[in-house]
Amino acid sequence: MRWLEQHKAPGQGGGEKVSGSREAGTPTRLDVLAMLHDGAAPIHGDDDDQIGPPSIPSTLKNWAWLISEHRGLVYPERSDVAELAHWLLLHVDWATSRPWIDDMLGEIGALRRWAHSLAPWAVHVQELVGPCPYCDMRTLIRVSGERYIECDGREEVGGCGGLWTYEAYEDHVAALVKADKRRKTRKVEAKTKRGMAS
Ligand SMILES: [Zn+2]
Repeated sequence: MRWLEQHKAPGQGGGEKVSGSREAGTPTRLDVLAMLHDGAAPIHGDDDDQIGPPSIPSTLKNWAWLISEHRGLVYPERSDVAELAHWLLLHVDWATSRPWIDDMLGEIGALRRWAHSLAPWAVHVQELVGPCPYCDMRTLIRVSGERYIECDGREEVGGCGGLWTYEAYEDHVAALVKADKRRKTRKVEAKTKRGMAS
């Protein structure tokens, strides 16, 4: 549950950051506008691959509406993107028990990727040496300003896309170091025994 909740945060960040890029002076780009404004369904190509950027407000509204319906809540009709993102975060714990949680996280993750590809924000990325606790690949990165360590899930990198707190990562590395020490100790013991036997 917590793991899924952590997935949610970057999507929210993406939404806010795109708003920022608009202020930075790219208001005439249609693709950026498409993300910032309410839109119909995302544009799909022949093979159903999405070829146009999804609308941030529409995507968030769709999920807020779904959650409101399911939970018998008043749909936050007048909320702006930041408020919607906050509202969704309040219900993430509940949403993680729903069968559509993967779709929700997938769509919100896509918002962030689209936003970054259209208007990349300057980021400081630190690559971490320890392996990912989940997929075991050395693909962990820490992006400045983000609360979590991320397993780089871009296709060319091949990580699992998981998010980790720094504490969880450190615990994992500590456990690996410990296990490695144990293994080495066992090797030494084995050698010593062989040495005694001969
Ligand atoms: Zn991973």
